Amino acid sequence: MYTGVMRKLSECPNLQSNLKNCSCTYSCDLKGRCCECLRNHRANNELPACYFPPEAEKTYDRSIGKFLAMHKRG
Ligand code: SF4
Repeated sequence: MYTGVMRKLSECPNLQSNLKNCSCTYSCDLKGRCCECLRNHRANNELPACYFPPEAEKTYDRSIGKFLAMHKRG
């Protein structure tokens, strides 16, 4: 759980540019906070939205299995 202090420490100087490049369509307060976004998804054996093309991203399935299935050859 975030505390006020933790949130303040996590303010990112790249927030605005990160937001411009964020492809996530989910309503989430980690948007633009890429370090926290990645940490969150790693903890759940997932990848962030930016690893998925738009159609896959919209499913909100961020699992590693989904990512591997997309890149499966043959
Ligand atoms: S990828 Fe996940 S953690 Fe990151 S902004 Fe989107 S929903 Fe939030």
